[in-house]
Amino acid sequence: MADTGSLHDAFIDELRDAYDGEKQLTKALAKLAKASSSPQLREAFETHLEETKGQIERLEQVFESLDEKARGKHCDGIAGIIEEGKSVMEEDFDEPTMDACLIASGQRAEHYEMAAYGTLVAWAQAMGHTEAATLLQQTLDEEKAADKKLSALAEGGINQSAADAAHPEEKQRAVGADASPARKSSARSARN
Ligand code: ZN
Ligand code: FE
Ligand code: FE
Repeated sequence: MADTGSLHDAFIDELRDAYDGEKQLTKALAKLAKASSSPQLREAFETHLEETKGQIERLEQVFESLDEKARGKHCDGIAGIIEEGKSVMEEDFDEPTMDACLIASGQRAEHYEMAAYGTLVAWAQAMGHTEAATLLQQTLDEEKAADKKLSALAEGGINQSAADAAHPEEKQRAVGADASPARKSSARSARN
């Protein structure tokens, strides 16, 4: 009779999936950085690429803490997200629009990782694998911070530049309604 799999087996499986996903992402993040026009966006992808290399090492520590060999198992989810990101990069978009699309691709990956690590932390805690839980939580925090950073860049000007290129006639109205970040900051400095 075949053994019935336990949550511990599922946990090891998901760790292998995450390990493979991170390795795929190191290559993808380098491409996202290269395709970025905004220097801040490029820097954000490069910074997260370095973090991702650390996350791979952290997963190796997790495997070690569980007396398991570090081994990957092809992550179809991240592969699909990367595939979609590649199609976007092949499009002929203006620079701010491409940057907005690169952020959208990057955030899909971060949200996928947040879901994966959220589960891994919860399972590790439930099974009393406290060292693994602590390490996985550190990575979850980095993924959340990377996601927030991308939102800040999108909302801090990239989306508006792309929108202005799409609808130049509406730019005046948006400024008139005090909706642009530049206008808001000048209003703030005027008060100070
Ligand atoms: Zn276990
Ligand atoms: Fe990651
Ligand atoms: Fe990430």
